[in-house]
Amino acid sequence: MPPASIPIRVDHEACTECRMCYVVCREIDLNAVYVAPEPRHRFEIDPARCLYPGCTACLMYCPAPGSIVEAASGRSLVPPPPDVWTSDRRVPRGIA
Ligand code: SF4
Ligand code: SF4
Repeated sequence: MPPASIPIRVDHEACTECRMCYVVCREIDLNAVYVAPEPRHRFEIDPARCLYPGCTACLMYCPAPGSIVEAASGRSLVPPPPDVWTSDRRVPRGIA
């Protein structure tokens, strides 16, 4: 059984809305990043679909430091810390 996922979220104070996380997550067919109509069509991460920390694919592509964080602790994941950015988590197993 895979480890339980840890919820992550976009910090809208830091996010530039470049949409790289959205594109990357679509490219690997997980589709956890979506555009929330309210309040301002911002990018959000669906914890029911996101596989973090089993997946970390979007973290290296995000250009805005601090814009993706662990929801509970607020720990910044951009750029990805070394303990998070491990070779077996860059793309979830079974996809690449
Ligand atoms: S960690 Fe993986 S599943 Fe979660 S939003 Fe980023 S690319 Fe999508
Ligand atoms: S990749 Fe980073 S800066 Fe770009 S939309 Fe996603 S969270 Fe925001």
